[in-house]
Amino acid sequence: MTKHFATDHHGWLELLSVEPPERPVLTGTRRVPWAVVGAGFTGLAAARRLAELHPDDDILLLDARRVGQGASGRNSGFAVATSHFGGAVGADRYAHCRRVNRINRAGLDALDALVERFRIDCQWRRDGFYHAAADRAALRECEHFAGYLERFEIEHERFDAEALAAHLGTGWYRAGVRVVDGALIQPAALVLGLAASLPENVSLHEQSAVLDIDAGELSRLRLAGGEVVADRVILATNYEATRLGFLGGRITASTLAGSFTRMLTADERASLGSESDWGLLSLHGGGATLRLTVDGRISLRNTAEYRGEKLLEDATLARRQAVHRDAFERRFPQLRHVEFEFGWSGVEGVSRNATNFFGRQHERIYLAGGYNGSGVSRGTAFGIAIADYASGEDSALVSDCLASPTAQWIPPRPLRDIGAFFTVRRRFRGVGRDR
Ligand SMILES: Cc1cc2nc3c(=O)[nH]c(=O)nc-3n(C[C@H](O)[C@H](O)[C@H](O)COP(=O)(O)OP(=O)(O)OC[C@H]3O[C@@H](n4cnc5c(N)ncnc54)[C@H](O)[C@@H]3O)c2cc1C
Repeated sequence: MTKHFATDHHGWLELLSVEPPERPVLTGTRRVPWAVVGAGFTGLAAARRLAELHPDDDILLLDARRVGQGASGRNSGFAVATSHFGGAVGADRYAHCRRVNRINRAGLDALDALVERFRIDCQWRRDGFYHAAADRAALRECEHFAGYLERFEIEHERFDAEALAAHLGTGWYRAGVRVVDGALIQPAALVLGLAASLPENVSLHEQSAVLDIDAGELSRLRLAGGEVVADRVILATNYEATRLGFLGGRITASTLAGSFTRMLTADERASLGSESDWGLLSLHGGGATLRLTVDGRISLRNTAEYRGEKLLEDATLARRQAVHRDAFERRFPQLRHVEFEFGWSGVEGVSRNATNFFGRQHERIYLAGGYNGSGVSRGTAFGIAIADYASGEDSALVSDCLASPTAQWIPPRPLRDIGAFFTVRRRFRGVGRDR
């Protein structure tokens, strides 16, 4: 693997009991009708859909890293049906919110069907998760969020502090809402399961970074060990599309970090309320994300920063773990003695106005990506839709994806660094006890 496409240890993949199968590196010259670059949720969904639409075509799927090492294998594992849009959702936002939720549900349903069909063992649990508030700003947001759920007739349940403590074993939160659709996943297990169940006409190559693309009548993809000549290309490379000359000035990335405890003992688990496993998202955009996993670990992620689109180095991650530790002990004083076993960071693609990218970039090059920290369901839906769109198929999902607002311009470095610094600072404003 080139240093250019770095990876590291990162929790979810390390928690798997089996070593993921290694896929061949692409060498030599390949001539194919379709090449998909990037094997995260978007690329896996796009390759699968292309294979269904063109059963006689070879579909080449390339990733610079091993499957599961990108953001798709290192996220917090919330596959949402209903997005939290923030603030009071007025009539001027109804159409946008409904469209985004339709996309989310299309992706979630597609994942659900695949998990069931291929019996993917990924801790899949589709009965929703909590959105909770510990401080004033988030409590206000709780009212906005509940108001929007009511107006949109989205099934949910409200919780006060006492009920949350009884369910989750933490007295930290003052109010919350449980939205009853949405799935919790072990993200690395899910992407590996999706990769293992690809149709036969998809060939997957790992550690096969596309270094540049010469876009003519045919696209020529240059790799370290070979070349791919493709009629059509789908880029599912998230924020790294900029390295190939696409989305420059419209996408950047934020680096998040979290920690996992060791497995809790039966007594420790008994101190955690009535639910065997659960997920909690903060109602403050800068707040902590929490999971109690099926195998009895608590994971907590509460840092996000601009690091030039890179993962955290070990020493920085260790410093961020002190922030995780503090938040963990405040929420679970009864587990103060429980040590962290893993720390991880991950990079998510973000745009200035939190939009997504979908469409044609060049006559025969298509791209789907972005998602601003919410790409499990949405990336899957965008992947399906971009394969349809590139194949000339029309659908309601394609129309919904095409309606994504245009991304606002992001200035180049060093202005970008200053802008990103203030954007991240804004994200944490008023976070208080929710961090
Ligand atoms: C810490 C963290 C927590 C998150 N939590 C959630 C969550 O709970 N729920 C949610 O919905 N979303 C969450 N997200 C966001 C979500 O993980 C992403 O939106 C989603 O994984 C994007 O999927 P993708 O397939 O588009 O991109 P990626 O998963 O980033 O995949 C892109 C792939 O392209 C490959 N690639 C890039 N460039 C090249 C190249 N030149 N040649 C070949 N391959 C290339 C990369 O190696 C990578 O594997 C989180 C993200 C992070 C980092």
